[in-house]
Amino acid sequence: MSIRPRYDVAVVGEIYVDHVFSGFPVWPQPGEEVVTDAYVREMGGGAAATACGLAKLGRAVTLVGLVGSDDHDWFARGLARYGVAVDGLAIGDGATGTTISVSTADDRSFFTHVGVNRQVGALATGAGLAILAQARHVHFAMPLARDVADAVLPPLAAAGIRTSLDMGYQPAWLADPANLPTLRAIDHLMPNEKEAELLCGHADPVAYFVHATAIGLRHPMLKLGARGAAALEGDRIVTTAPPAVIAVDATGAGDAFDAGFIDALLDDASPLQRLQRGCITGALSTRRPGALAAIPDRNELRSIHDRTY
Ligand code: ADP
Repeated sequence: MSIRPRYDVAVVGEIYVDHVFSGFPVWPQPGEEVVTDAYVREMGGGAAATACGLAKLGRAVTLVGLVGSDDHDWFARGLARYGVAVDGLAIGDGATGTTISVSTADDRSFFTHVGVNRQVGALATGAGLAILAQARHVHFAMPLARDVADAVLPPLAAAGIRTSLDMGYQPAWLADPANLPTLRAIDHLMPNEKEAELLCGHADPVAYFVHATAIGLRHPMLKLGARGAAALEGDRIVTTAPPAVIAVDATGAGDAFDAGFIDALLDDASPLQRLQRGCITGALSTRRPGALAAIPDRNELRSIHDRTY
């Protein structure tokens, strides 16, 4: 007798509170202060963004990650607004991961404190693993440390649970040969162009697919920013352009793409259809500042899909 999974997707990874300050007329010199009225506090981090994107598409999603005790209720309320389950939202020993984003019209800089995200590997191999095992698909939005991968990937594979990984821009992780078995064990590695270049040493997508096949990636794909995305279908490269949008902020576009791509995987869609769905959620997310404000719901996804592809 098989037990019906409780979740379509469990997303595990880093959670941040993003403090976004914008509209400064000039960049301050060291020791100076500048003032703005434009400030928002948002849920951030790839794990939160992809989980919220999938929930907005109507999927049953849980988020496994850590925040500081002061912020737990704020995140639980925010995630619940999107319909993300919070049974895996744990309180870590320390402060919530925090990013301060500061921008003028011309420039933007980020200051980040990783905080309790450092403990997410221990969560995934401990109390979090039982939650991951209740999903059809597990998405890792973190650089998956070798010991964590060793502890988590075999039981998920044995249970027939599909996996994806978006490690983010992690030069040291991508260059470390010790992570090669992880790259091979993950079903869907989801790099952007810069990450793919770090992995294979070339900026060219064709070179990436040759390299990805040679090192044994299971379903090679690649996000290409405003140009869309590409994947291998058999021995053929398929590519998709995103729908036309007026992009105002591409922060989190890759995480939003992941939500559409995973949504298509849950429907056993073809490689081309996965790219199309990812490109829609990725491109639409760029319409408003931040990662979450403009991600589509299922109806909008459908209507843009029918108009575009
Ligand atoms: P990341 O955010 O990880 O760097 P990308 O920049 O490759 O990832 O963006 C992910 C996806 O978001 C792209 O495949 C594309 O569909 C969409 N996207 C990103 N930037 C734009 C843009 N300027 N215009 C339209 N779509 C975009």
